[in-house]
Amino acid sequence: MSALTQPEDDFKARLDAGLWWKLFQRALRMKRHLVPLCIAAVVIAACEAGYAHVTRWVIDAVVRDGADAPLGLHLAAYLGLTAVLSVGVWVFIEKAGNLSNRLAHDIRRDGFDRLQELEFAFYDTRPVGWLITRLTSDCDRLARIMAWGFLDLVWGTSFLLMIAASLLVMNWKLGLIVIAIVPPLAVVSKYFQRKMLLSAREIRRTNSQITAAYNEAIQGVRTTKTLVREAENLAEFSRLSTRMFDAAVLNARQNAVYFPIVTTLGSLAAGLALWRGGVLVGNEAMSVGTLVAFVNFAGQFFFPINQLAQKLTEMQGAQAAGERVMGLLSTEPAIQDNATVRARLAAMAANPPTADLAPDGLPARIATVEFRHVTFRYATGPVVLEDFNLTVRAGETIALVGPSGGGKSTIASLVCRFYEPVSGQILINGIDYRERSLAWLQAQLGIVLQTPHLFKGTVRENIRYGRLDATDAEVEAAARRVNAHDFILQLEHGYDTPVGEGGNRLSSGQRQLVSFARALLADPQIFVMDEATSSIDTETEQLIQRGLQTMFAGRISFVIAHRLSTIRRADRILVITRGRIEECGTHEELVRRRGHYYELYTSQFQREREEAVLEGAAPEPFQK
Ligand code: ADP
Repeated sequence: MSALTQPEDDFKARLDAGLWWKLFQRALRMKRHLVPLCIAAVVIAACEAGYAHVTRWVIDAVVRDGADAPLGLHLAAYLGLTAVLSVGVWVFIEKAGNLSNRLAHDIRRDGFDRLQELEFAFYDTRPVGWLITRLTSDCDRLARIMAWGFLDLVWGTSFLLMIAASLLVMNWKLGLIVIAIVPPLAVVSKYFQRKMLLSAREIRRTNSQITAAYNEAIQGVRTTKTLVREAENLAEFSRLSTRMFDAAVLNARQNAVYFPIVTTLGSLAAGLALWRGGVLVGNEAMSVGTLVAFVNFAGQFFFPINQLAQKLTEMQGAQAAGERVMGLLSTEPAIQDNATVRARLAAMAANPPTADLAPDGLPARIATVEFRHVTFRYATGPVVLEDFNLTVRAGETIALVGPSGGGKSTIASLVCRFYEPVSGQILINGIDYRERSLAWLQAQLGIVLQTPHLFKGTVRENIRYGRLDATDAEVEAAARRVNAHDFILQLEHGYDTPVGEGGNRLSSGQRQLVSFARALLADPQIFVMDEATSSIDTETEQLIQRGLQTMFAGRISFVIAHRLSTIRRADRILVITRGRIEECGTHEELVRRRGHYYELYTSQFQREREEAVLEGAAPEPFQK
């Protein structure tokens, strides 16, 4: 397994109080759950300490009054304590579970929200698996530790303080002697808890590697046999298995050593209490009941200290996860509205704009999109576009063609403001698009990708995704306009046919038609399309071409074009090579020029013609 999916790897030597405080602030927002939780923790600690006091009380009463001691009263006190303790434990478990789930829910939601806000460049540098781990296992782990850890810290500290206070109040000199056991107990507990956490991790890690090895061995059994790899595989597996064995033995040994040490320390404290206390009882300076309480308390120090050590160690172990999650939550999107735009949006929100103004107060109609001296590179890469200039007017369709890696998709992404120019400007109606509202611009975009992504759901739901408040009639009208209606009606349940995971029940041509309808429904001013390269049957191809005409009409369209029929209809064709416009013109102009485009066109035409012949359809005539 890679380090990315093993977030447990880092164990922080030092607790970062600032980080945990920030995390606990999230818990503080849930006072309704946190306050009862803390009260329950303190009440439980008080009840547990109370038992020793009741015992002391009973013994002293019996020693003093013999058979006349009010034992019924003592029994009632004992039962009362038990009842309170039970309620405390109930509140404690219920609230901690609740808090843990709520925290996980909140962090997940905020994380998801942030993921949606973050720009594409953020995703370029972080693998999907890494992000998913942040929002699933990291998030759950943190929430669990925060809720249960918080609880144990409150309980452990209060119990510890109550024991110490009881001892000091009963007899401060003897109390100090017994309390002297706390520091060594704390040091030993912390030391062993850390060791045990690390060995338990090693067991888990090797265990998952063993599972993966089994998986591989079973799935690849044929290949292994034919390549006679059995011996090597077994050797590899044995190494893994030995590592797990070693870790498990180590963990067992640590447990075996830890518990005797701490119980010995506890007994030592109890022994000290018994010895010094015995002398005091003999001198009648202390009651028998107090002595018993002392011995009881001395033996109980271990529990809160063990819990505190365990929780602090777990927090150290989860700190890396905490840093990653908090890092994600506090990452500011690099592409967002600037202060001026935010101010204009706020001003416009107060007096809603008229129809011809966008929410940012500037004209809503997009008349031109212009690249002015645009240079661009991805975060870590070389320059992709250099001094790129282009002006597109409303109604124009620009076809981008050229060799792969030339920069066509980059141009489209820049138009969409998924990335911003490194230098130069992209202007909308002559205004830098960074001075416009990002949400408004992106609402004006209709995007159809090479393999359009359809969501699990019906055809209708997928089209409606373009505009959630569209009526059924509007959904169907959009489908009609892009020529998708007829094929949809032929599906088993028409518009209510489920499209399957990622749209896999539809052919790629059908998926494109559905995505046209979805884009059209939103009535975008700018249409961006990455045409599919896969071959589509001639009939669907014609439907798509007619659908495209509807999409292009009246909009600014950028098409990364692969189909001749699309290219021929474009107002301008740009041949993009190494981030520059190598040729620009209409189909006729470029063919006449007999340059790069002509080469592309003739070779592609040849291929399409052959495919058409193989399919049995009449090939389109060659146009020059
Ligand atoms: P085209 O669409 O013409 O095939 P692209 O615009 O996708 O070309 O790519 C142009 C160059 O930018 C290529 O060298 C490609 O490797 C690089 N590139 C594309 N996307 C990214 C990215 N997200 N991060 C880094 N480099 C990228």
